[in-house]
Amino acid sequence: MPTILTSVRAFQRLDSRGKPTVQVEVETKDGKFRAIVPSGASKGDYEAIELRDGGEAYGGAGVRQAVQNVREVIGPALLDRRYDLEIGLKEIDSFMIALDGSPDKSDLGANAILGVSMACARACAAAKKIPLYDFLAGELQSSPHRYIVPVPFFNVLNGGVHSGNTMTFQEFMIAPTGAASIAQGIQWASEVYQALKSIIIKEFGKVATGIGDEGGFAPPITQPSEALDLIMAAVKAAGHEGKIKIGIDPASSEFFDDGYYDLGFKSDKPKKLTSTELADLYRALVDKYPVVLLEDPFAQDDWESWKYFHVVSKLHNVELVGDDLLATNIMRIEKAAEADACDSLLLKVNQIGTVSEALAATERAYELGWSVFVSHRSGETTDDFIADLAVGIGCGHLKAGAPCRGERVAKYNRLMDIEEELQAKKIGSSYAGKSFRYAHSQAKSE
Ligand code: PEP
Ligand code: MG
Repeated sequence: MPTILTSVRAFQRLDSRGKPTVQVEVETKDGKFRAIVPSGASKGDYEAIELRDGGEAYGGAGVRQAVQNVREVIGPALLDRRYDLEIGLKEIDSFMIALDGSPDKSDLGANAILGVSMACARACAAAKKIPLYDFLAGELQSSPHRYIVPVPFFNVLNGGVHSGNTMTFQEFMIAPTGAASIAQGIQWASEVYQALKSIIIKEFGKVATGIGDEGGFAPPITQPSEALDLIMAAVKAAGHEGKIKIGIDPASSEFFDDGYYDLGFKSDKPKKLTSTELADLYRALVDKYPVVLLEDPFAQDDWESWKYFHVVSKLHNVELVGDDLLATNIMRIEKAAEADACDSLLLKVNQIGTVSEALAATERAYELGWSVFVSHRSGETTDDFIADLAVGIGCGHLKAGAPCRGERVAKYNRLMDIEEELQAKKIGSSYAGKSFRYAHSQAKSE
C-alpha cells in the first residue's frame, strides 16, 4: 500500500521578527507533518522569490496569496497525483517546480513551495519509518558513511541590517571546534555568551545588552576589531581560550554601492573603501584573530574581488563561503567554480525553494571539493528542519544564531536530541570538531 498525501493545508503565521510567514501541514496515514518557512533580511538578488501581498495589512508583508496558492493550486494538484511518499521527495519537488513554471518560483511563491517541500520531507521520513536526518541522507547520492554532528557557529554579536547599532559587519560567530561533543560545544558557547554579556555591561552599561535579530548582542560599537576584542575577552573569561574559533559574515552586498564598500552605512558618516582596502582589512583581521571562516566578504557581483581574495584566504586556511554570491543555486555555483571565487556553499533552503534543489546544490558543492555550511535565516521560526539537514548531509557545520531566543535554540536543542538518540541506539556519531570543514569528504573516504 503506497503512502499518499490525504490533505495539504496552509496558514499564515508569524516569524521571529513578528512578520507573516507560511505554515504548511500535510497529512498521510502516518499522521500530520508541519513546516514553517523562514525569511531573510539581507537577501541576495539571486534568491527565489517569496510572495508578499502588498497592501495595508502587515505593512504589505502578508502571505495570504502564498497560503492560497498552497490551498488552491499546489495542494489539490498534489493530492491528484497520488505520489508514493515512500519513493521519496524528488518527484514531488520536480512537480511543484513545473507547476510554478517560472525560473525563480515567483508565480506560486518560493515560500508556498518550500513549506510543502519541507512538510512532505517529514511525511516521507515517517512513511519510511526513519528519522528526518536519515531520510535526507538517503536523498543525497553521496550520503556520508557515518553520522557527523555539526559544529555550531553561534552569532553572538549582531550588526549589519540585523541590529540597530552602528556595526557594519552583520555576524560575528564563535565555533567550539575544540569540544568533544555538541552538548559540550553548546555549553561552552552559552558560557561565552554569558561572559560577553557581563563584559558588555561593564563597558557600556546594562542598556547595551539588547539583542539583534539572531539573538547576538548589539552594543554601541562600529569597528570589527572592537567586536572581536570583546569576543576574545569573553572566550578568555569563560576559560575556553584556544578551543573556540571565529567566523565572520560581513554580508557586504548590503554596504556595496557604486564600486565602493561603505563601512559607515549605518551612521551618518560615510567611510568608503575600495575592494583592495577592504581586502586589506580582512587580511589584518585574519592575521590577528583565530578566524576560520569568512562569508560574503565581497558583494554578490564583485567577482574580481572574490577571485583575488580566494588566493589570500587559501594561504590563511580560511574557508571562503558564498551566500548572496551563490544563493544556493547550481547555476551560480558553476559560475563561481569556473571563476575559482570561493570554496564553500552557504546552504539556505529558502534561497532556492525546494529541499531537493538544496540537496542537488549540496551534491554539486561536494563534487567540486567544496565545503557546505548550513544556515538559518534572520527571520526564523521554531521549525528545527535545518538541524536534521546538517546531520543528514554530513556537512560538519551550521549556523543558527546565538545560544539565545527560542527560534535559534530550537535548532541547537534538536542537535543535542539527535546526538543523544544516536548514542542511545548505540549507533554512535562523531562531533565534527576541528574537521568541521571537510567532515563530509573525510567520512566518504573512510
Ligand atoms: C546571512 O546573511 O547569512 C543571514 C542569515 O541573514 P539573512 O537571513 O538576513 O539573509
Ligand atoms: Mg550571509
